[in-house]
This record gives sequence, C-alpha cells and structure tokens, in this order.
Amino acid sequence: MELRESNIQQLDQSLYDVLIIGGGINGAVAAAALSGKGARVALIDQRDFAGFTSQQSSNLAWGGIKYLESRDFALVRKLCLSRNHLIRNYPSQVEEIRFFATIDEGFRFHPLLLWAGAWAYWLFGNGFTKIPRLLFKRMIEREEPVVNTRNTAGGFEYSDAYLPDNDARFVFQFVRSAMDRGCIAANYVESLGARWDGAIWLTRARDVIAGKQFEIRSRVLINAAGPFADEHNRLTGVQTEHHHLFSKGIHLIVPRITPNQRILAFFADDGRLFFVIPMGIRTCIGTTDTRVESPFTEVTDEDRQFVLDNINKRLNLVRPLTRHDIIAERCGVRPLVVKMQAEGNTRDWLQLSRKHEIDVDRAKAHLSIFGGKLTDCLNVGNEVVEIVRELGIELPHRNCRWYGEPDRTVREEYLRQAKLMKLDSYTLPESRESLTSRLWRCYDEKAFGLLEEIRADSQQAEVLIEGTEYLRCEIRLAKRREMIVKLEDFLRRRSKIALVMPREDIRNAPGLMEACEMLFGDQAREKFDEYFQSQPAARLSSTGSV
Ligand SMILES: Cc1cc2nc3c(=O)[nH]c(=O)nc-3n(C[C@H](O)[C@H](O)[C@H](O)COP(=O)(O)OP(=O)(O)OC[C@H]3O[C@@H](n4cnc5c(N)ncnc54)[C@H](O)[C@@H]3O)c2cc1C
Repeated sequence: MELRESNIQQLDQSLYDVLIIGGGINGAVAAAALSGKGARVALIDQRDFAGFTSQQSSNLAWGGIKYLESRDFALVRKLCLSRNHLIRNYPSQVEEIRFFATIDEGFRFHPLLLWAGAWAYWLFGNGFTKIPRLLFKRMIEREEPVVNTRNTAGGFEYSDAYLPDNDARFVFQFVRSAMDRGCIAANYVESLGARWDGAIWLTRARDVIAGKQFEIRSRVLINAAGPFADEHNRLTGVQTEHHHLFSKGIHLIVPRITPNQRILAFFADDGRLFFVIPMGIRTCIGTTDTRVESPFTEVTDEDRQFVLDNINKRLNLVRPLTRHDIIAERCGVRPLVVKMQAEGNTRDWLQLSRKHEIDVDRAKAHLSIFGGKLTDCLNVGNEVVEIVRELGIELPHRNCRWYGEPDRTVREEYLRQAKLMKLDSYTLPESRESLTSRLWRCYDEKAFGLLEEIRADSQQAEVLIEGTEYLRCEIRLAKRREMIVKLEDFLRRRSKIALVMPREDIRNAPGLMEACEMLFGDQAREKFDEYFQSQPAARLSSTGSV
C-alpha cells in the first residue's frame, strides 16, 4: 500500500497525543519537534504540504534588516540569531549569501548611514556572517555591470541567508523527518472542524481525494492553518487573543539576470526593499506588500507592471524585461499577527506584523500558531514542545535534537563514497553545482541509497525529464518517500521544475510521461492531464487549491 493510504488508514485508529492542522512551515516544525521528542503525532493538510503560503516566500532566512528602520531591535536580534541557528544546523540547505544593495540619489538615507546600519545589523547577529562593505559607484559598475548606476549614490553589501532549493522542499524535509520518527502525516486531508468533549479533541476530517470522512482523536489540538487559523478556530469554537491580517506579496521568475551568486537589493519607488534573487538557472524578483482582506490572491497586471518597471529602471539590460520574459509567478499572503482589539490600527500593523504568537487555551489543550516566518521556524518548534509538555503530554525523548542535518562524519563518509564512484562525472555541464552536493542537500542521509542505486545500475544516474536535473533514481525515491499525490506536488514543491522551466517545455519534455508512470502507475495519463488542463502553473497563485 502507498504511504499516504496507509497513513490515512491509521488516522482514525488511535488516540494521538497531538493532532496538527496544517503542513506549512509552522505545522511541519511542530510535527518534527514533537515527534522527535517522542510524542504520538498526527498531521494533516487540506492541500499538499507547503501548498499555500510556505511555497510563496522569498526563500530568505534573514534577520529583517528593514525592521531596523521601525526600530524593532528585539525582533531583528531574534531573527538574526534564528538565521544563524539555521545556517549552523542546515549548512547545505541554508546558505549565507551577500546582498549587494544599490542606493538611488536623493533616497531618504545616505549610503554611509545605511552602511552604518549594516554594521549594526552585523552586530545584532553576533558577527556571525561576513562583514559589511561600503560600495562606491565605481565598485558597483565594476563588480555588477548589470546595475544601472546613472542615478546611483552608492551602496553597501551585507550578508543574510537563502534557501538554494526551495521553501516548499525545506518545509517537506521537516514533514519527512517527523514521519521518520513515527508521525502519521497525510496531505489532501482537510479538517472540517473539531469538538472538545471535555477530555479529548474529536476532529472531523475528510480525505479530499477519496471524499471519505472520518474522525481523528487527540489529547491536544494544534491549529497551524496559517492564513486559515482564524477560520479554523471559528469552526472549533476557540477564542484567541490574536488573529491575522493579510499582506500580499508577489515574485516574478525570469531568465538569469546576473551570473554572480548574490542578491541584488534596491529600494523600489514605494521606498520598500526589493530583491533580485538567484534561483538556479533563473532569477526571482520581488516582492510587493499590499494589505488584502482574503488569503486567496493572484498576480494582477498592476503588480506585474510595478515589479517590471522598478527592475527595468535599476538594471542595464540589453532590452527591458517584459511580461513575455516571465517564466513563472509566485503570489501569497503573509499571515501577520495582531491583537484582537488592534484590527485596523496601522501602528500595530507595522509593529506587530512580523512576529509569531502562540495562543494557548489550557483548559481545552488547544494551541493556535499565528504569524511567523520561515526564518524563525526552529523557535516555533521548540516553543510548541514546551507548551505541549506543560499541558501534560509525556515526552520520553526530551533531550533528542529534533532538527539539523546529519553530523560532519556522516557527510564526510557520503563525500568519500561519492568521490570513489566518480559521481560528479554525471554532473550536467549547465548545473550551478556538483551532483554530489545537490544530492546531499536534497536528501542528506537518504543520498546513500541513491549512491547504491547508481552503483548497481548506472542508468539510475540518467536525467529522466529532459531539461531538468532530476535523475531516474530521485524519481524512484520521491515515489517511495515524498507522498506525491498530484503532478504539481512534484513539479512545484518537491522539485522546482515548474518555477524554472516554461510550462510548454515541461509538457513536451521527453521523459515526463515516463516519470508520471513511475510516480502514478496506471493513473499517469490522468495526472498528466489534470496538471496541464488546470490553470497554468506560471500563473498559479495561492488559489491553486485542491
Ligand atoms: C511574498 C512572501 C514572501 C515571504 N518571504 C519570506 C522570507 O523570505 N523569509 C521568511 O522567513 N518568511 C517569508 N515569508 C513568510 C512565510 O512564508 C510565512 O510566514 C510562512 O510560510 C507561514 O507558514 P504557515 O505554516 O503559518 O502557513 P501556511 O504555509 O499557509 O500553512 C498553513 C497550511 O494549513 C493548511 N490548512 C488550512 N486550513 C486547513 C484545514 N481546515 N484542514 C487542513 N489543513 C488546512 C493549508 O492548506 C496550508 O498548507 C514570506 C511570505 C510571503 C507571502
């Protein structure tokens, strides 16, 4: 039986210590942390894991340099330390990267002042990253000729971190690690609401694919439904101190703008920071910040034009970027936490917006996670563990470290084996990195299994879907371990194919149908048609629901 079906069968069989609603970053870390500590955990998401907000971020683990301007120093300090913690524990998945910031003449701050701010930022992060650098116009021209310096006053360079793969893949590795430690997780299973019977929670769930309804019993219920947290609390009759407001942000993915592995930073016409971020063989540009009322959003013509105008104004391109250059788009809402009575209060909107809060109803053993960032995810996991322990759930593995890549000796053994079998002879000439490092980043210890498959049969090292870098053995691994229900789960979230390759090229790529056969067996054609008949992935926003 397939992993998902087997897990769904188990969901109504036991009394779980904790049921988590939502498999975005907050639900995923909660599941990984609690399972790691030995709790009996179930996790459900009505879409794919990371199928809503957590697939729409800027892929940055950052200390929030821009919050220095609003003097939210405590938040900056906390986020800088969280960023450092991520870099230290995920050295291949969260990489330090330089931000090359260019400042226009007449901007509200002089480059020298911003450079001083970058030093303060560096100190807030305990000097963990490389030191900031002041950039003169000449240096910008020499080092990054793609930047248009006609109206440039100067600039500065500083460090933060980014996810070279994909936010959704980063989230999935927490879900996977939770499953490895006994968590029963299933995607495309929706909570229809829950009832507290005085001792336990009874959650009505629906398998969105098969349509079947059943009940999940748990001692504790965690609402990690992201932008839907308030809605789920209404369904369950839970009152909270905090709730969400939404800010929409978009990104456009275009052909690679600069060969340099750094992020270009500018202040857009509205005064907000926006970035040109490397994404493999492409570049991702964004983002915007527009208050909206609904979590369901899409990229409008106005959004597209805003980003294109701002970027064209600040770059020296052979020809300006137009809509025809857009390979894919990302669009989502930031769930921003505010206190109940503060709704509509702009001051709180700016000040409270980027924090996370966990509201606890102790009498009913209920947690609601509000707000937050990918950057802060390990703190969310640790805080959830502490609260669940206080609620009386026994955690037999209290000292277990629930996060992080395998230690150095395991990695060194992997590198040794990869070298002995000359794995890098299979690296594609156009790849940004060696196959050895990519496989480790995506699968860590599980990459040993891939090496074994390639040693047994060198065809397993062939790229299966032409135009991508995914090997035959990776698709086999995905089939076994990555709970892929729809083709979009694989193309958009477990891999980033749908972000970097035009839709028509994917459709026509030799090998795609064979990959579908490996992933879906008899249903290959149906899943292929379902994906290509749906809204184009390039235009798919968070409305890309079930
Ligand atoms: C444009 C943009 C840029 C960003 N950039 C960054 C960045 O660079 N760095 C950073 O750290 N953060 C960034 N963020 C913030 C970050 O992405 C979010 O804070 C985070 O992803 C929210 O995660 P979440 O788990 O709370 O919500 P989600 O990822 O939305 O997860 C909630 C899940 O709950 C599920 N769900 C909802 N209702 C139900 C139900 N009834 N039953 C079952 N499941 C349900 C949903 O399907 C969803 O998958 C950005 C956000 C945006 C929008």
